[in-house]
Amino acid sequence: MGLKKTVLCRERQAAILAMAAGLAIVHAMPAAFFSHVRTWVFDLDNTLYPPHMGVFDQIDRRMTAYIMDALGLAQAEANRLRHDYWQTYGTTLAGLMREHDMDPEPYMIAVHDIDFSVLSPDAELRARIAALPGRKIVYTNGSAPYAQRVLEARGLDGLFAALYGVEHAGYRPKPEADAFASVFALDGLDPTAAAMFEDDPRNLAAPHAMGLRTVHVAPEPHDASHIHHHAPDLAGFLAALTR
Ligand SMILES: [Mg+2]
Repeated sequence: MGLKKTVLCRERQAAILAMAAGLAIVHAMPAAFFSHVRTWVFDLDNTLYPPHMGVFDQIDRRMTAYIMDALGLAQAEANRLRHDYWQTYGTTLAGLMREHDMDPEPYMIAVHDIDFSVLSPDAELRARIAALPGRKIVYTNGSAPYAQRVLEARGLDGLFAALYGVEHAGYRPKPEADAFASVFALDGLDPTAAAMFEDDPRNLAAPHAMGLRTVHVAPEPHDASHIHHHAPDLAGFLAALTR
């Protein structure tokens, strides 16, 4: 048996052992599982910056305030509604549009009018994304102008070929399959030669079904068959792909 074949056999054995242990089989050899990828799709919030930087807390508070004002609700009720809509419709905005016919544009501007100084530049992440072969794009349930401001604050601007927001899918949010289909068609990417990085496990189901490699970026793993990889540290994970 040649050396190459021996290595393949070892990798296969490792994969079988990993499967038996209930782990994703791809952990042992991530680079090979991404060698066909030509388009790298990144979510924005809590993916291209870590949750502890406190951006989304600010957005949550602004969403609650907006709902209180728009619907004349007390804070506790507005908070409950915000969370219920997020759970039921994928985003709070989707619920507000569906149930209250809310105009999305002023809402998007108001909830994203935050203090961006809580974000710090990440030179290592920038280098790791830049080193990926092929196109890199951002797809967020926020808006594209908001994405641009976050990327500037993180020192990640100029890396991406395109920024897509919820407005590019007619305000239909991830995790809806139609939203992914709209944005991917607009971009012209081949889903079978693409990878998606996301902190919300729900938003990896449709990409997985469309043929993308899926990477859950979060401190803690989430066990689901539509998740190929878990990356607690995005820069570290990308480093392993381009080594
Ligand atoms: Mg996110």
